[in-house]
Amino acid sequence: MLDTVIVGGGPAGLTAGIYLLRAGLTCALFERQFVGGQAATTNVIENYPGFPEGIGGPELSLKMAEQAQSLGLDIRYDEAERLELAGKVKRLTAAGRTIETRSVILCMGASPRRLQLKDEERLTGRGVSYCATCDGALYRGRRVVVVGGGDTAVEDALYLSRFASSVTIVHRRDAFRAQRALVTRMERTPNIDILRSCTVDALFGEEKLEEIALRDVTSGKTRALPADGLFIAVGMEPRTALAEGQLELENGYIRAGEDTRTSLPLVYAAGDVRTKPLRQVICAAADGAVAASMAALDLGA
Ligand code: NAP
Repeated sequence: MLDTVIVGGGPAGLTAGIYLLRAGLTCALFERQFVGGQAATTNVIENYPGFPEGIGGPELSLKMAEQAQSLGLDIRYDEAERLELAGKVKRLTAAGRTIETRSVILCMGASPRRLQLKDEERLTGRGVSYCATCDGALYRGRRVVVVGGGDTAVEDALYLSRFASSVTIVHRRDAFRAQRALVTRMERTPNIDILRSCTVDALFGEEKLEEIALRDVTSGKTRALPADGLFIAVGMEPRTALAEGQLELENGYIRAGEDTRTSLPLVYAAGDVRTKPLRQVICAAADGAVAASMAALDLGA
């Protein structure tokens, strides 16, 4: 039986691994895709201390994983299919095998919210994308549209302006939620067109995206805009499916305070999956450290 199982290999999970191993606890980390989570799909991270020039998200993610693995972290690239969190012995099932653990640190993060448009799913991967860093380079010299008004949307617009011939950012309100510095930089970028108080109402295209329908929310008028790519950046939804019915949630997030303790003993939630006022790489890493320390304390290690 392990002391701790970590679910999710983003900054929270990797940092938890580093702290658990340094505390002398046994643990394994389960990751369904790649280490780094959302950080790994971010082009440049400019607000993580220690990197005055910024650092690439994939590079920071790999460095975190390297540090954890150098301490001996057992990273298993399997999707956790089931969790039993209530009893004294907790169980995780992945790849058809069940392992037992005394504590669990949940770091599943969040995934991109959909616009819920009729043809959105059909055109995903055919012009519609949720990751500018992953797919942006495919749109060299093309016309792209970004939807959203937060940091991700504005960063995506800035990133895409390096490849695309034109970028149109569409935001449903007249004020951007993104950091002022990013918005100012976007406003000064010549090939970015900013459409405020506007929504994307429909997508058109047979084999791939060709056109989108825009609606001005003030006048109600609609118009068509030709587009080769549509990058949707309208926020995130926490990945809590594994915990549903077992843990208390709040607005869809796992309810946990600054100590990362959830509604069940020896179950902790760290990073974007938990209730918290700020969701950044540094906060996720901090949560991972706290969760590991709380687990060590509660296990009497
Ligand atoms: P976010 O801050 O939640 O912003 C989502 C944006 O999408 C908002 O502008 C929202 O509009 C809009 N939106 C939501 N649902 C919509 C819908 N159905 N149709 C049209 N627009 C919709 O999400 P995010 O930008 O992904 O950022 C998530 C978190 O990560 C934030 O805490 C952010 O600060 C952080 N982050 C930080 C950095 C950085 O510091 N460098 C980079 C990326 C992300 P309203 O404004 O009208 O609500």
